[in-house]
Amino acid sequence: MGYKYVFGPVFSGRLGRSLGLDLLGERICSMDCVYCEVGKTDNLTGERKPYVTAAELLQELTKWKGEKHQKPDIITLGGLGEPTLNSEMPDIIRGVKKLFPSMNIAVLTNATTMTDPEVRRELLEADVVLPSMDSLITSEFRAINRPCKGTDPEAIAKALIEFRKEFKGKIFLEVLLSRGYNDSDENLSKMKEFCIDLSPDRIDVVTLSRPGTLDKAGPVDSGSLGRWKEVLDAAPSKNRDCEPDTDVKSGSSTDTSALVQAGDSDAFDRIQASLMRRPQTAQQLSKALEVSLSKVDEVLKELRNSGRLSVRQTGDEIYYDCRLDVDS
Ligand code: SF4
Repeated sequence: MGYKYVFGPVFSGRLGRSLGLDLLGERICSMDCVYCEVGKTDNLTGERKPYVTAAELLQELTKWKGEKHQKPDIITLGGLGEPTLNSEMPDIIRGVKKLFPSMNIAVLTNATTMTDPEVRRELLEADVVLPSMDSLITSEFRAINRPCKGTDPEAIAKALIEFRKEFKGKIFLEVLLSRGYNDSDENLSKMKEFCIDLSPDRIDVVTLSRPGTLDKAGPVDSGSLGRWKEVLDAAPSKNRDCEPDTDVKSGSSTDTSALVQAGDSDAFDRIQASLMRRPQTAQQLSKALEVSLSKVDEVLKELRNSGRLSVRQTGDEIYYDCRLDVDS
């Protein structure tokens, strides 16, 4: 069957095969980042509401569990916007844990809501939190992340450091660099201090590799990316006394009791749902959804003929995309 809120699994370098839960259902976010993979934010807001109810989402997940799917490595709360804006997130986390007791739960977040102590308390129930922080310079932060009113990067950084003190799980910080937006030396120096205080379990410094919301937002070159990685990786940790641990993705993958080959069944629905959330190559779709490459090609052709697919070349890679509108 097709799903509205359960999608993937998608393959993630940080988490492995990750089954996604969309807590928004629409493009609702507290930011409108120039590089966003899901497209332009339709509802830019900091308001927390049950955009998708826990009951609706858990009902879908229960159905998914009852079907013959290969077990993912992790379940990730994310979707078409900022998942922590969903005020029923705590019920969703509890419900997922009941359905999949041995599975790790990850939450992708832009961290804007974490200035609220209630949100920080709710996130303590997750196993991995993946905050993003692109710039601690207010003007850069506004230009690249285009946040809703009243959002301050320094306040978010402080909130993340507060969270670190209590959270027993892992924090994987992501910094996305875009040329001319946030790759300044001033930002690098501030981010280094922040990484020392936060001591994340893992730091991923990345640049655009897929088409984002704005065509003019481009990647930084490999030299710049390498320098940022080197400086942030070398930032001494206040909380950890060992190298960052990146092993979460293997957390439950050894539990193969529920493994059943999903194969090519429902491939059309699953590929379309996945491409409505992020642009991907045919190889990425095949690997994440465990659908043969020939079947992926067949579905892509069908989507193209129906006018629902756009195709873009980024570097050597060809990305397919079913998002409705992407600015240029
Ligand atoms: S990248 Fe994340 S934080 Fe930025 S607009 Fe997209 S969903 Fe929101």
